[in-house]
Amino acid sequence: MKFCPKCGSIMLPNKKKGVFICRKCGYEEPLDPETAERYKIKQNIKHEREDIPVIEQDVATLPKAKVTCPKCGNNEAYWWELQTRAGDEPSTIFYRCTKCGYTWRSYE
Ligand SMILES: [Zn+2]
Ligand SMILES: [Zn+2]
Repeated sequence: MKFCPKCGSIMLPNKKKGVFICRKCGYEEPLDPETAERYKIKQNIKHEREDIPVIEQDVATLPKAKVTCPKCGNNEAYWWELQTRAGDEPSTIFYRCTKCGYTWRSYE
């Protein structure tokens, strides 16, 4: 756990920027390589264990997007958004191919 030297709040690692960010005052501090590495490993484990959620609702009610299915090459897919467990991370977009039903996630 890391605390902000300015206001004493808990600082959260931001792996994209490679820094710790204070959620309260916005103070940033670079991640030391060891911490960054540990955090990366933790992230990888989390992603492996995290399954793509099965949506029970009628897919016909979901909006469609022009994206290419990585499995069959169809260029239309239903999409929905899910907030990941870490509150500071952007929500994840999931796609489901309208043709073959293949489901994947977007990291954009
Ligand atoms: Zn702070
Ligand atoms: Zn497909």
